[in-house]
Amino acid sequence: MSPDVALEPTREQALALDAADPLAAYPARFERAEGVVAYFDGNSLGRPVAGVAEEMAGFVRQEWGTRLIRSWDESWMTWPEDLGDLVGRAALGAAPGQTVVADSTTVLLYKVLRALVDHQAAVDPARTQIVVDTDNFPTDRYVAEGVAAERGMELVWIDTAADPTTGVTPQQVRDVVGPATAVVLLSHVSYRSAWIADTEEITRIVHDAGALVLWDTCHSAGSVPVEADRWDWDAAVGCDYKYLNGGPGAPAHAYLAARLHGIPTLRQPIQGWMGRQDPFLMEPGYVPEAGVRSLVSGTPPIVGMVPVRRGVEMLEEAGIEAVRAKSLLLTDYAWAVVESWPADLGVQSATPREHDRRGGHLTLTHPDFRAVNARLWERGVIPDFRSPDGLRIGLSPLSTTFAEVWDGLALVREELAGDAG
Ligand SMILES: *Cc1c(COP(=O)(O)O)cnc(C)c1O
Repeated sequence: MSPDVALEPTREQALALDAADPLAAYPARFERAEGVVAYFDGNSLGRPVAGVAEEMAGFVRQEWGTRLIRSWDESWMTWPEDLGDLVGRAALGAAPGQTVVADSTTVLLYKVLRALVDHQAAVDPARTQIVVDTDNFPTDRYVAEGVAAERGMELVWIDTAADPTTGVTPQQVRDVVGPATAVVLLSHVSYRSAWIADTEEITRIVHDAGALVLWDTCHSAGSVPVEADRWDWDAAVGCDYKYLNGGPGAPAHAYLAARLHGIPTLRQPIQGWMGRQDPFLMEPGYVPEAGVRSLVSGTPPIVGMVPVRRGVEMLEEAGIEAVRAKSLLLTDYAWAVVESWPADLGVQSATPREHDRRGGHLTLTHPDFRAVNARLWERGVIPDFRSPDGLRIGLSPLSTTFAEVWDGLALVREELAGDAG
């Protein structure tokens, strides 16, 4: 997937790369953003697909405003699974019937982690440990802490914070899993360094130890190819508002492998009527739906699913392989630009260099980045700052042009040079 030509850090080459880009038509299919020179945060909040505003207005008038409650029977009831199947197909490598869209990432992480942990403890009470890593996204760590406290389990920490330029390795996992491990919770792509975990190997290691693994797909869904079924994943949870362009607070996705469905001991903890068999019979006693629908608790956030569908359909149309190819070229190009800067600017990279270890963003480090980031936002260049010194350059392939990378990085350099001078 390496470019055939050496990447020259010039604007001319950016224009040439845009002209040769098989996905060149896509950036214009997003809402225009007045005054934005470069949007480098599509990995944190994807841009709205053009036409979504009109589609939402139509939804309010027609499906909600006119069909009213009839829409539940006509379509809404199965949206969590229908949209889940679409996310599964376009972004997760998951056969139908294993993915739902519902709740926030945090809530789904809690529900799925609790279900897996409780199942493991029921089958083998000696499995009392949850494995997490110190550099995972805060919500993942906090949820794991909460579940461990609730269930009297022990947290086992893999130290990934010591080297923020990398992420969890198979050996680190091998070193901590064993007969006491219930569940391992890891990110497929690190939110900080963009490190891609060797998920196939790690999943195998976890399974060999008799444990289950829950993968966080927030930074991999829509950014790198995911093969949940082929890699024998147990479960995954991730955002739909990052590379899937679903909008702020969009309901998240959860994947649960079919072989884990319908197991009486594997139950998510928020037993609501919408995950029950025949919810409208209103019967006493909770009986979970047999399939992945059992992960749903209450009334699904239908309004929030409208933009998710549009974003994921666009991904499916473009194809994740093409998206990944452009993503690598975007990050390679950005890297070439940054490497051409004078060394005394003092910018370092905190992202793996190898293609097979690098996700869709580039994290640069410099002690002045907090202040620089604030000034960049005022000038219409929008990366984000991650404490203590990281500037994340998120290059969402469908909405980002090479010229945008050049123009935005030019202002990063200018702001830094201004600081130094
Ligand atoms: C963005 C992100 C989240 C966000 O969770 P929310 O419930 O949507 O706030 C969780 N985990 C990871 C790894 C993330 O990158």
